[in-house]
Amino acid sequence: MTSSKEIRVALVGNPNSGKTSLFNALVGANQKVGNFPGVTVEKYEGYRYYKTYRICFVDLPGTYSLSAYSPEERIARNYILTEKPDLLIHVIDGTNLERNLFLTTQLMDLQIPFILALNMYDEVKEKNIHINIDLLENLLGTHIIPTSATQKKGIQDLLDHIVAIKTGAITVSPYKLQYSQSLNNVIDALEKILSQAKDFKTNLPLRWMTIKLLENDKEMHNLVRQHPLWNNINQFLSHQTAVFKHLTGNDPETQFTEERYAFIRGALAETVSYPTYKKEDFTDILDRILINRFTGLPIFVVIMYLIFMATFRLGEYPMLWIEQFFSWISAGLEGMLPDTLFRSVLVDGILAGVGGVLVFLPNIMILFLGISLLEGTGYMARAAFVIDKLMHRVGLHGKSFIPMLIGFGCSVPALMATRTLKSRGDRLTTMLIIPFMSCGAKLPVYTLFIGAFFPSQHAGKVLFVIYILGIFIALISAKILKKVFFKGEYEPFVMELPPYRWPSCQSLFLQMWHKIRMFLRKAATVILAASVIIWWALNFPQHKTIHQESNDHIPSLETHYLTSAEKEYVPIKHEAEKKALHFEQTYAARLGKTIEPILKPLGFDWRIGVSLISGLAAKEVVVSTLATIYSVSSDETETSRSLREHLQNDPVFNPAVALSLMVFVLLYVPCIAASVVFHREAGAWKWTFLYFFYTTGVAWLMSFVVYNLSTLILL
Ligand code: GDP
Ligand code: MG
Repeated sequence: MTSSKEIRVALVGNPNSGKTSLFNALVGANQKVGNFPGVTVEKYEGYRYYKTYRICFVDLPGTYSLSAYSPEERIARNYILTEKPDLLIHVIDGTNLERNLFLTTQLMDLQIPFILALNMYDEVKEKNIHINIDLLENLLGTHIIPTSATQKKGIQDLLDHIVAIKTGAITVSPYKLQYSQSLNNVIDALEKILSQAKDFKTNLPLRWMTIKLLENDKEMHNLVRQHPLWNNINQFLSHQTAVFKHLTGNDPETQFTEERYAFIRGALAETVSYPTYKKEDFTDILDRILINRFTGLPIFVVIMYLIFMATFRLGEYPMLWIEQFFSWISAGLEGMLPDTLFRSVLVDGILAGVGGVLVFLPNIMILFLGISLLEGTGYMARAAFVIDKLMHRVGLHGKSFIPMLIGFGCSVPALMATRTLKSRGDRLTTMLIIPFMSCGAKLPVYTLFIGAFFPSQHAGKVLFVIYILGIFIALISAKILKKVFFKGEYEPFVMELPPYRWPSCQSLFLQMWHKIRMFLRKAATVILAASVIIWWALNFPQHKTIHQESNDHIPSLETHYLTSAEKEYVPIKHEAEKKALHFEQTYAARLGKTIEPILKPLGFDWRIGVSLISGLAAKEVVVSTLATIYSVSSDETETSRSLREHLQNDPVFNPAVALSLMVFVLLYVPCIAASVVFHREAGAWKWTFLYFFYTTGVAWLMSFVVYNLSTLILL
């Protein structure tokens, strides 16, 4: 046992990091050589009195990692785990940080206190390597003491830190390495199995054991193999490894290594600058341009622009084919079936609604391919890195930008991705601004209105501006929300930078297919159901008086301004007029007209109001509702028109209304599925209320501004 005046310290580090030199500088002549138990590896121990403490040092064998591949690694790790020194001094070669920090990430997994001796600091200065030590300390959650073992510099500082930690004057709380969601899921599941075995006694940290088991660590496997639990674990491991490999294309072991290096690369990119030549690999060379202070942001903007351009341009032709296909089917059905309600629900409800949305499948495929490519190549992390500085200005971290980018696909996984944010304030803020990202479901709305009201050479640009507007509003909102609700919470974070790689066609295809399947499933369920409901609300109640009346008075436009009671006595001649009048009295119309006054200042009529309400089921339903409305309300001569042509011929619509509507759809409250996830993740009604009113309020305000401005400019 350690007496209260004794501090036991172990030196751990890569070979040639200067451990032995540091050890000598620390203890001088007070040292003796022995052997580590059971092996012939020499064990250097020594002591030194400092400020009334007797500090005992041991110089562990140099290792690059804490796996159990070599005897040195085993000795070092067993010493740390079983002898439990009071403190570790992790010696790193300051001129070779990338390789040295790999061991650091492994020490972090152990969750044992350590401080860093940034050794060879003389060479660091000589080589003009600039290290932002304060920031690196923050990112790693430990204390860093620059030392120069051969020149005996920094020794006193190191001793002061050892004593200060012993007395509790300073503390260390190493940043727990955050692995990706896919790894975390497996770690959590396995850790649970281990923790539930009551008779399984161990002094080892469970999370670390779990990681080692997943890394195929032989010694850990041997340790657990003796326990009855082994069957469970073995089954879990072989099954999960296969699943993991299928999903990510990597086995967990490789994935751990990669994510560790991603962490290191990210930490170094923020804290270290090398003035002179440094041997660079492909990733370094690409990073020099892609995360460069000056070129990074413009490149990001260009890449996003290209993706939106492609989404629009390349999607155009297959979209026309699908459109023709559906109008061909509905024309066929109209010819074959008698004019009944059944035909109407089939053609005007289901085909118009679901078909109206499926038309945009090609655009959605291209957008999702783009997002999958950004994720798979490792560029997504760079985008977050580049945006990091911008995010700091609004009180968030670049790490929040990844959920935001995922939000371009769908808000549901985006909201869940915020779990990697440790600070609750950051997390809630990020969740509250994710609705402003343009999810894939909003794309059909944009594509429809841009296609109808803007010349095709400007289409990509308009789309791009809408996406950027979403990001912009999100950032401003973050600033406001942070100021009002989550003051002063800030935590440093490392932005992981994984290596660049070309994703395999298979994994690209799988990811894309997964997303498309979700879209198709949504079309077959939510959108189908919503279409039928909307069709019903647009056809009922079936107004008897109107159908019965057929005399030959002159039709009057003034019928619109009469009350419904008066309307029943207004004689009507034409079918179309009759139909229109009936239409105006349906449930949908009544609902729409109730909210019309609120939407009027945005340029919307009651039909748009109905579409926006039904769009809460899923954003695509805004489109399917409009399709059904036109299909139900149009007369025979117009039925062959596409939805786009209907819109172009409708006096209510013009480019200003189209812009206003797109902005509203961009910003107002997300679909029910996303809102449920929000509520679950936020965990309190007050946040859900804030979420609802904030998004919808911002949507109204922005649409109002956009509508009035563009009316002034465009019309
Ligand atoms: P170990 O393998 O970690 O025990 O490293 P050593 O203590 O044996 O040192 C490896 C080499 O680095 C030796 O040649 C040392 O002289 C040199 N070295 C150690 N510390 C420093 C330092 O702070 N500055 C410089 N310039 N060289 C150092
Ligand atoms: Mg040595």
